[in-house]
Amino acid sequence: MRYEEEIPDREYFVAPRRARRRRRISYRTLLLCAVLFLSGLLLGRALAAEVDIEGGSHLGGTSAGPEPVQAIAPVVDQKKDPEEWQLLLVNKDHLLNEDYKIPEMTKLRNGHSVDSRIYPDLQRMMDDARAAGLQPLICSSYRTWDKQEELFQRKVNYYLQQGCGRQEAEEKASAWVARPGTSEHQAGLAVDIVDVAYQMLDEQQEQTEVQQWLMEHCAEYGFILRYPTDKSDLTGVSYEPWHYRYVGKEAAAEIMEQGLCLEEYLSGQDDVS
Ligand SMILES: [Zn+2]
Repeated sequence: MRYEEEIPDREYFVAPRRARRRRRISYRTLLLCAVLFLSGLLLGRALAAEVDIEGGSHLGGTSAGPEPVQAIAPVVDQKKDPEEWQLLLVNKDHLLNEDYKIPEMTKLRNGHSVDSRIYPDLQRMMDDARAAGLQPLICSSYRTWDKQEELFQRKVNYYLQQGCGRQEAEEKASAWVARPGTSEHQAGLAVDIVDVAYQMLDEQQEQTEVQQWLMEHCAEYGFILRYPTDKSDLTGVSYEPWHYRYVGKEAAAEIMEQGLCLEEYLSGQDDVS
């Protein structure tokens, strides 16, 4: 079974930030003078609202400006126990409630967003990977219900045009794109990270230096490789050596050290079914 990450959504495949940055410097120097002169504070404010997860860390204070966190959906989390939010299970059998609200979102640069609660650890992980000489790139993050619906319907329409009936079209589509409500990306707790040097979402991704580093170190930051190669029958999702899910450091250490998937970890706790 293949899922939404298999669709190379072009808008996520941006040029490597470092390369773009170098090119931009000379242009920027000239352009910024003109643009700032014309639009002044307006531009400054728009940029200051974003978080530079692709470059330096706001946590380290490399960028000046106001509080980076941008509240998009300031609504109370449905989970009653604040300790357990990071263990939210989302899969084919455990759909995200349609009214699920992420308490607060942190907007990253290049259009990505995550649940603010995972942001500090995510930023540290990205910073440390870069400090190790790597070039990780977040290519997918939070997706709205509408976005997931759109991706799914696009695939359904494709099969309808191939002559399939509605039910068959939806079944076939669900092999490629997660049905709305079954994607962790909708909860803002997952990110897809690739190596700038190799951005294809296929099994070769595991050979990249970035994935080798992430697989070894992600648990230190509370992340797990969510869809391991040998757990597809339990997760319902094929091997995805790029999809990282935040579960907190305690759970992540146990899951990664013991070679579990989240379903197995939670079944050892309580109330999974
Ligand atoms: Zn993913």
